[in-house]
Amino acid sequence: MKYFVLTILLLGSMTAQAQTVTMPDGSTRPLGDMDGDGEVNISDVTALVNKILGKTPVPEPEPEPEPTLVPVLVCSDDHHPHLIDLGLPSGTLWACCNVGASSPEDYGDYYAWGDTQTKDVYNNDTYQYYQDGSYVDIGSDIAGTQYDAATANWGAPWQMPTKGDFEELLNHTTSTWITKNGVNGREFKGDNGSILFLPAAGSYSNGGLGLEGARGYYWSSSLYEGSPGYAYCFSFRSGNVGCGDYVSSGGRNVRPVYKK
Ligand SMILES: [Zn+2]
Repeated sequence: MKYFVLTILLLGSMTAQAQTVTMPDGSTRPLGDMDGDGEVNISDVTALVNKILGKTPVPEPEPEPEPTLVPVLVCSDDHHPHLIDLGLPSGTLWACCNVGASSPEDYGDYYAWGDTQTKDVYNNDTYQYYQDGSYVDIGSDIAGTQYDAATANWGAPWQMPTKGDFEELLNHTTSTWITKNGVNGREFKGDNGSILFLPAAGSYSNGGLGLEGARGYYWSSSLYEGSPGYAYCFSFRSGNVGCGDYVSSGGRNVRPVYKK
């Protein structure tokens, strides 16, 4: 109400004036031309009222960012991560690139199972879920939990794939060992024409990074129940591909999935 009354008063006083004022640089402008456009109109009232009330002008709204989370069949531009729709029965969508990667061919980051941050050395000594000679129970499926590197780094609902997600990927796509832009890896093609590429980025063990360019290791969120300190990992090389149990303290890639 105060704003409205002030506006009416100022508009009335301005339209009644026909004087000009001399500005510090010697130019003249109509009295009341607050925004310097040579005219006295409602925009000057807004500028003056805002000045009196100590308000800063409201900026033009930013254009909406280009939507990137629309399911697509292939990774077609630089707006990663894309949601690749492989036409899977569960409706699960796969990210086009690894956590920490800037493109599908980029190796990205390596995590011990249950860790959400990278480190320099990957062994039991640096594994935070190995204490006093035994492995800490952080659950049989860490998807979407505080131990999920995909959720922690990309936000929900991104999550690590379960062992079942990898099996679904394997059972409903055709995979081929290829070299893409100079990077070895495995390409998965869905029946709907979709394409997903996983680089053979190797893994970190006690001796550092090894087998890059020859093998791919991707953590699932599923604990291997048969032996403490192991979790299921999706692995491949040129000749074969499948899920197996791997030591949890090793550093391996994470390829997020998105579930509706
Ligand atoms: Zn992409």
